[in-house]
Amino acid sequence: MIKLTDNIKSLKNIGPSREREFSMLGIFAVQDLLYFFPKSYKYRGAVKSISDLQIEEMASVIATPISAETVFRGKISITKVRVRDETGDIDCIFHNQPYVKNNLPVGVPFIFSGKVIKQGISNPEYDKENQGQDSIVPLYKFSGQKIIRKIMKDLLKNATPVENLPLFLREQLKLPTAEESFRNIHFPENEAMLSLAQRYFATEELIVLQLALYALRGNIKKSSTVNIIDTDISPIIDNIRFTLTCSQKKVLDEIVEDMRSGQVMYRLLQGDVGSGKTVIAIIAAYISAKNGYQTAIMVPTGILAAQHYESFSQILEPLGISVQLLTGSVKGQKIVHEDIKNGTTQVVVATHAAISDNVVFCNLGLVITDEQHRFGVRQREALAGKGRNPHVIVMSATPIPRTLALILYGDLDISTIDQLPAGRTAISTYHVNTSYRERIWSFLEKEAMAGQQSYIVCPAIESDELTSVTEYMDRLTQYYSKKNSSVKVAFLHGKMKENEKEEIMQSFKNGSFAVLVATTVVEVGVNLQNATVMVIEDAHRFGLSQLHQLRGRVGRGSAKSYCILISDTTGEEALSRIRAMIDHSDGFHLSQMDLQLRGPGEFFGMAQHGILNFKMASLQRDMDIVKAIQGCVADIYRDIESYPNLKSMVDKVIVKES
Ligand code: ADP
Ligand code: MG
Repeated sequence: MIKLTDNIKSLKNIGPSREREFSMLGIFAVQDLLYFFPKSYKYRGAVKSISDLQIEEMASVIATPISAETVFRGKISITKVRVRDETGDIDCIFHNQPYVKNNLPVGVPFIFSGKVIKQGISNPEYDKENQGQDSIVPLYKFSGQKIIRKIMKDLLKNATPVENLPLFLREQLKLPTAEESFRNIHFPENEAMLSLAQRYFATEELIVLQLALYALRGNIKKSSTVNIIDTDISPIIDNIRFTLTCSQKKVLDEIVEDMRSGQVMYRLLQGDVGSGKTVIAIIAAYISAKNGYQTAIMVPTGILAAQHYESFSQILEPLGISVQLLTGSVKGQKIVHEDIKNGTTQVVVATHAAISDNVVFCNLGLVITDEQHRFGVRQREALAGKGRNPHVIVMSATPIPRTLALILYGDLDISTIDQLPAGRTAISTYHVNTSYRERIWSFLEKEAMAGQQSYIVCPAIESDELTSVTEYMDRLTQYYSKKNSSVKVAFLHGKMKENEKEEIMQSFKNGSFAVLVATTVVEVGVNLQNATVMVIEDAHRFGLSQLHQLRGRVGRGSAKSYCILISDTTGEEALSRIRAMIDHSDGFHLSQMDLQLRGPGEFFGMAQHGILNFKMASLQRDMDIVKAIQGCVADIYRDIESYPNLKSMVDKVIVKES
């Protein structure tokens, strides 16, 4: 018997060159090889008698070669192998495979599968009659299909796979055993068995992921030690210069309800770009402060932190609540840390700097992360870990399908702002090719003369973002210096120092210049009422959600706004993204399209890359599995030592994520 930890070298038919090919695929141990699933399957036609074959159908016959000949026409060869069963004869026709004659000795029965044409069966697959009668044949991403199938058949005969799924879960989801599942994923008995096997491995994949996230997250449903009693928000409501939308009021009610419930709040607040999530966070921080607790809000960029700091302090400081900015570039960190530690600071607006070890809170009661998809699970949890079970709000403009929310956050609650503040006008979106560039620049000039501001976003082409932005900037400056030197331009890219970036954003906000050329550093959260035009260069290089996020930087005031997508692409998929941007303004709709186009791993960007690239599971199909696992993940985790194989799979994911 073979052990799962054995090196594949010890298997039959694996010599140095195949070993090398496997190692390139990340396959070293027998266990890895078991999980080397077919990339697709070929459906062989049913086995028929030769006399029953119909032209144009896919079919299989069990027959014996009786003669063979090869004719050459120039470089092309055609080999005809005549085969026979009890009902008749037919030719198997092979193009450029003269050697098949040697593989098909006269008198030995084989199964031949292929398309029936007038002259016979065209380029059939063939197998020894006694081992190749499966009607579904696996296709592997491997150089030799016959040999890999043989290796797999041997392996399945000699190795016993470990059962990773608890019996009760298998029963609940009506899943086969591990052994049956491995057999059918490689060599399906029929379609029904194949889809059961796929379901088995989808479950295994999801359980590994959910256990890993559970381990990172800890048990979240705890009774709360954060005592929220006073939830009168009228003083702060009076201090806000607009009326909340119905939708904002609804989510606010949900949050207030949670905070006073005596249970730890764990809530996802989602709403399209510009729907007004920040003010909800500010009100929640107000409640927390009023009840004697600190609030930490963490955002992915320094620019966004500076902007939020301004919004928070503008509303909260007049109410006597102290707000502190904490980023890498803030001066006097020691005093800042001291004030956080002794409770002088009540609200901290921060970047990742918040999770550094020297930041200690006095009594953290509420933790908010904005643009949550930019953070890894570990970072989010690290912040919450700085309090004793604080309430948690995660905010996102990227709506998350229910299945994925369950996976990523466990049993969290979702609030959705599904309405934009009144008075917003639709952003007109256009697609033009690069020959229009100067006309666009001249349009920006007009807007500038009318007192409006514009963004031009250039893609960060690998490490060259710096040159692409500065070059663009040079051309643009030259253009305006000839045409209208009162149009002032500045630029911004990811390689600049944090405080430099913040300064440029600040002076853009103050109206010191009219056009900002930038990479996607402006993508998340930036809020500037006066900006009316978003120009996106090489628009085909951006994902749909990202384009929508970028577009969301304009149309934040009452002036008419525009989004101009510049691209010469002829690519089908890129054009369909651009078309979707023109046709749709609803971010939820666009996100759904994007998720389907790219899959969850790409969609959520770098922070959660690897772990969401499912091999087997499907967010559309497997909701019931995710739910079932959610119901028992705590129990399985407690008993994880009884599943050593599962544990090591979980550990691998945890290492990747942290
Ligand atoms: P996002 O949900 O994208 O984070 P913000 O919170 O940045 O959106 O809000 C976008 C803009 O809309 C801000 O300038 C904010 O002050 C404003 N805003 C939020 N709520 C309302 C409202 N109910 N009425 C009018 N303006 C609002
Ligand atoms: Mg925001």
